Parts: sequence; structure tokens; C-alpha cells
Amino acid sequence: MKTLQDFNFNAKKAIIRVDFNVPLDEHFNVTDANRIEAAKPTIDRILADGGSVILMSHLGRPKGKQDQFSLRHIVSKASEVLGIPVLFAEDCRGTVAQNAAQNLKPGQVLLLENLRFYAEEEAGDVNFAKELASLGDIYVNDAFGTAHRAHASTTIIAQFFPTDKCFGLLLAKEIDSLNRVLNNSVKPVTAVLGGSKVSSKITVIENILDKVDHMIIGGGMTFTFVKALGGKIGDSICEDDKQELALEILRLAKEKNVQIHIPVDVVAADAFANDANTQIVDVREIPDGWQGLDAGPKSLEHFKKVIMDSKTILWNGPLGVFEMETFAKGTITLGNFIAESTANGAFSLVGGGDSVAAVKQFGLEDKMSYVSTGGGAMLEMLEGRVLPGIAAILD
Ligand code: AMP
Repeated sequence: MKTLQDFNFNAKKAIIRVDFNVPLDEHFNVTDANRIEAAKPTIDRILADGGSVILMSHLGRPKGKQDQFSLRHIVSKASEVLGIPVLFAEDCRGTVAQNAAQNLKPGQVLLLENLRFYAEEEAGDVNFAKELASLGDIYVNDAFGTAHRAHASTTIIAQFFPTDKCFGLLLAKEIDSLNRVLNNSVKPVTAVLGGSKVSSKITVIENILDKVDHMIIGGGMTFTFVKALGGKIGDSICEDDKQELALEILRLAKEKNVQIHIPVDVVAADAFANDANTQIVDVREIPDGWQGLDAGPKSLEHFKKVIMDSKTILWNGPLGVFEMETFAKGTITLGNFIAESTANGAFSLVGGGDSVAAVKQFGLEDKMSYVSTGGGAMLEMLEGRVLPGIAAILD
């Protein structure tokens, strides 16, 4: 696996695919610079070598050239984060981009205009990729969030750098972290899978059954399992057509010696609302008119034991409807258990949009070993797929 360490960037132009798809407010100010900060170590390292940097990214989902999606809006924030003035090319291809790249001096950083102003980017167009490739000497992919897409700048471009291509520090860290959970893990390994639906997590569950010792299944998925096992789930969310599948997962887990832990009690509510009436009930005895929206205290006590005994923990998906304060306790408490276990030496990886959002919201980000930057990309890796953006560098 080639990373930055394998190259000396002195007098070289590195063309880096970054993920600067940051949120903007109505005045086009960057409201969260996390993704820019995440790319800084890679950029700093190349500049320190005496190289120059050409940054390419997408922003939003523009239909052709639309000013509200211009990366010009983020230039001042990027300059502030990187601590040097970032130059901007009003186009990512053609003479504008070529001249800007040609004039670039060691120590300078150039940001290209939004790649998605051209449909060729998402189409994975070879000629477009070739044009981008002509701007730099070494291709660096540091965008995990788009590594599962075979776009021109994330994958196709790599073929124009047969040997001069590598992972940036951020992407290398993502791959390492997943390897520490899936391939070189210290046992016991526990996966916590929450979220709303079995159907969206099923491939992940199947793939990681071979890698884990314990699997905690929570969130809305709980009720498909409980109903399949003969429990009364009231009005809780359930995928009736996935009940067979749930039983099959339980059977497979037994065969593979994986212990499955499902909530035994839940916070049930008489409406899907923060101000609903609530009661703690046995997960198999939820009254009609009530729905389970969070894990209950007995479940959390049990999960605590599992988490504290684990040496490797993967967390994907909330344990309840954490967006509403009334049903956030399970997710917060679980997050705190994982933080405590991490402080005791476990390796913890949090990934997937909603659990990352939860960890940030509850201030637990720094207490996890690693918080992934890619939602969809992370899920696909957990499903056992080889991401095209990663394969293109390994080629
Ligand atoms: P996912 O995108 O599949 O990871 O699901 C995340 C969503 O699942 C969050 O928005 C949660 O509010 C939701 N969720 C978690 N637990 C439940 C539950 N018991 N009932 C309904 N939705 C839930």
C-alpha cells in the first residue's frame, strides 16, 4: 500500500483528490471546516518536502456550472485552516487550469473549481481524467468519502500515474482503522449495529459475522428480530418480509460462534414524538399503540458488560431515535461505554453517517480511537467490497 511516505515531493506537483464538500450557510460561509482540517496533514507534508499542491474536489450536486456550488466560496476558509493563501483556478480543466498549474511554485497550494461542474466527473470519463492528470506529477487520493465511486478524479485518473500514485494520510488512516477491526483485530471483537432497517445493514451483518465475537443489534432493527422470535412489538418499526432473514442471521451466528445481543427492554412511546408518553417495557411485550424508540436500562447494563470486555469495537448506527432527546439516552450511554472501554485500551472505530453525527453531537469524538469520514464508503467496506478508489491506487 503506497502512502505519502513512499515519495519525496521536492519540486513535484501533487494533484490531490480531497473531500472539500463542506456545508455552507446562506451567505456561503463554511459552517464546518472538519473536512478541510482532515486534509491538512497530507497537504502540509507535501509542502514540507518542497512540493506544490493542486487540490480537486466536488461541492454539492450542481447541475452544470452553478455559482452557489463554486469552490471559490471556501477559499478563504481553506487559506485560514492551511495557514497559507490558497490560489484558485476558476475552472478545473482547459487553459485556465493548465496555466494555473504550470505557474504553481513549490510551497504553493492551488484549488481547482468544482469537478462536478462537468458531468464527465461522475461519468468517470477517461478524457476528463486525463486532462486532470496532466496537471500534476503525482496523484494522491485523500478522499475516503468518495472512494466508493468510480469517478474521473477518484478512480479513473489513477491509470495515468502507473507508479506515481498513493494514498493520502487521511485515506491511509481509514484503511488502517478498518483493517484493525476486520483483519488484524485483537479479540474479543464486538460490532454494534443500530439504525432503522435490517435491509440496509444486512450485507454488513453477513460479512462481519466471520470477523466478530459479539454483535449488538439495536435501533429499529431490533423489532424485526423480536417479532421473528415470536415477541409482541406493538407499533414498533418492523420489516415483515425480513423476518426469515433475521432468523437466518441468528442461525448463522450460532454456527459461527458469534454471540448476538438484542435489547431485552425498550423505551416505548405512544407516538413518534419527543413529548410522547413513555414507559420502559419488556421488548417482547410492547402494547398495541406503543412503539420502541430506544434501548432500555437492562439492555444497556448488559451491553456495558460486552463493551467493557471487548478489545476491538466497531460502532455503526444509533441505538434509538437519538435525534429526539427523549430517545437519545441509549445512544449516549452506549457512546460513553465505548469511550470508557477505549480509555481502557480497546480500539474503537465509529463509522456510518448517523453514529458519527451522534458521536459529534454528544462530544465523544475525541474519546474514540477513530471516527470515519466516509458514510457510504465505510458501509461498502464493511460489506466486504473493494472500493474502486482504493483498488485504483493498489493496482
Ligand atoms: P440508518 O440510517 O439505517 O443508520 O438509521 C438511522 C436512523 O435510525 C436514525 O435516524 C434513528 O432515528 C433511527 N432509529 C433508531 N432506532 C429507531 C427505532 N427504534 N425506531 C425508529 N427509528 C429508529
